[in-house]
Amino acid sequence: MPNWQSTPPSGDTGQPLRIIRTPADRPFAAIITCTEPTGCCTHFVGNRTVPCEGVDVCPWCQDGHPWRWHGYVSCVSGATLEHVIFEFTATASDTFRTYAQSFGGLRGCHFQAHRPSKRHNGRVVIACKPADLGRITLPEPPNLKKLLCNLWGIQYTEADTHRLPNRIGAQIGVGPGNGDARNKP
Ligand SMILES: [Zn+2]
Repeated sequence: MPNWQSTPPSGDTGQPLRIIRTPADRPFAAIITCTEPTGCCTHFVGNRTVPCEGVDVCPWCQDGHPWRWHGYVSCVSGATLEHVIFEFTATASDTFRTYAQSFGGLRGCHFQAHRPSKRHNGRVVIACKPADLGRITLPEPPNLKKLLCNLWGIQYTEADTHRLPNRIGAQIGVGPGNGDARNKP
């Protein structure tokens, strides 16, 4: 007899989430489900983003490809209620850092990101405020590092938690890692 349930098991299902970047022509609004951002240096090679694994071992660095830091948060899209991963740049990360410091973390942060220039690579401006959590029940945060490794085709192990390179100083978030222990069954 099946164990009927109206919803799939919550928590870290390992299901891939879509990565969303700020559109050029309209704002993107969402409520963050993770406590802190996850980020690393990346290269844009072959029309896709790939992580930099450190100057000494990274083939893209050795080929002279420029790198950029990208940050990621899991969030529920205001338009579709889909749980997605939002990608942002180092510049745009300042707002999240300030919010996390003020409110003790990012979970429950309602943000709106837009590009004032309406250009595809125009600067992103992010506005944050606490969400009205009386009106929405947030899903458990996914294991962001694991999902990103899957998306990038990199093997993930628990020990890799601190492996992702970070060339511009400390990870921008606060508090412990991204729920690895919490998500264990
Ligand atoms: Zn590299």
